[in-house]
Amino acid sequence: MMKRFFIRTFSSKRAIIIGAGLSGPLSALFLKQANIESIIFEKENFQPDNSGIPLIIPTNGAKILNHIDIYHQIKAFSFPLNKKIYWNYKNKLKIIDESDNEAKYGAESIIIKKSRLHKAILNELNLQGIKIHYEKEISHIENTEKSLKVIFKDNSEVEGDFLIGSDGTFSQVRNIIFPNFPSPVYDKTVRFCGFSTCPTSPNTADYNVLICREGVFSFKNTAKDQVYWTATIHSHISPEKNLNNNYISADEWKHKLIGTFAKDAIFIKDIIFSTVDNIGIYPVYNLSMPEKWYDGRVCLIGDAAHSISPFSLQEASLGFEDAFLLAKCLKMNEISEGFQKFEDMRKLRTKKIITFADLAYASFKSRGLKGFLQREFIFPYYAKRILLENPQIYSYNFDF
Ligand SMILES: Cc1cc2nc3c(=O)[nH]c(=O)nc-3n(C[C@H](O)[C@H](O)[C@H](O)COP(=O)(O)OP(=O)(O)OC[C@H]3O[C@@H](n4cnc5c(N)ncnc54)[C@H](O)[C@@H]3O)c2cc1C
Repeated sequence: MMKRFFIRTFSSKRAIIIGAGLSGPLSALFLKQANIESIIFEKENFQPDNSGIPLIIPTNGAKILNHIDIYHQIKAFSFPLNKKIYWNYKNKLKIIDESDNEAKYGAESIIIKKSRLHKAILNELNLQGIKIHYEKEISHIENTEKSLKVIFKDNSEVEGDFLIGSDGTFSQVRNIIFPNFPSPVYDKTVRFCGFSTCPTSPNTADYNVLICREGVFSFKNTAKDQVYWTATIHSHISPEKNLNNNYISADEWKHKLIGTFAKDAIFIKDIIFSTVDNIGIYPVYNLSMPEKWYDGRVCLIGDAAHSISPFSLQEASLGFEDAFLLAKCLKMNEISEGFQKFEDMRKLRTKKIITFADLAYASFKSRGLKGFLQREFIFPYYAKRILLENPQIYSYNFDF
């Protein structure tokens, strides 16, 4: 028998949210503040544990978490970023001091395990009585001028007034509303991350970014002898299993990683070797930003709407801003006006941040002499621009 989900209707609009990553559940919390009820559907069946990738949440993202009091809840599990120091081979390039961001902008930039943050957000959903239905994958969407219906692969269905697609880089919602939009493409770049206990690493509370000969390595001490690190390197082969079974094991990746940084600071190798749990290995995908972020009653947010190069450190935070702003726009407007206002406000800022991040990424992607010159000359320019633009990025206020 077909199962129908119902959204409580004491609010004026009912939202269906697809995807229970970070931006979907945040969206539900902000919509609730705007007096709009929502129901969330998630393809997987997961409970976040305490493992997983560490995320940097810069001040603008942390400020958003402040609006639902998550910022204070996660403080005990997060580490302040303090200063960002960019190293060019052996010389310091630029220092970006973020240690007084809390006083200046209302929240500091932090590092936190993604699963910890996810857990805090899901707890808040639970407290506020917002439901997530797991193992629900969309089959199709009936998106008309007057109504919206989602039919899932198990034949269950739900009706609402609008839908938010927060289903990540490979968004199925995006594929349905914009069927001609190109799919994400593996960008010949792999990101790694981990927590390590390494007595030989420089003991520093600052976040250090080392522009190395063949890759970028960053690290920060999060406790005595505990180091959080990330690395970004080139690789023609994606870490994901492909049709030709060109699959590289975790041990082979570790060796490839150590080989890549062999001619750089010796402690990099030590940090990678002393990684406590599994190393996180993630391919980077290239995805252009859609011209439109919505169609009829369906709107995209988070990674479904924009993919940004790994050097921006803004990917998740832009999704937080989307969730917050979309709720504000829908509180004060009818659905189509609200979506249009949201798109107008978000596209400009997102494009600007993507442009900065792409400059740094381009200098990383080039190889040989060209790459060397770009990293020597373009990267410092980028770092300087970040310094100049930081106040705008971090102090982002919503103009209503
Ligand atoms: C190694 C690594 C390091 C990173 N570091 C940083 C960092 O330091 N700072 C930063 O800001 N960002 C970082 N990011 C990026 C950040 O994790 C993402 O930008 C963020 O998680 C995106 O959130 P989202 O909710 O938009 O999408 P996601 O987190 O991808 O969530 C999408 C959800 O939708 C679900 N879903 C997918 N398809 C469907 C469907 N058809 N139906 C229902 N549900 C579906 C998925 O299962 C998932 O739960 C990093 C990413 C990686 C891989």
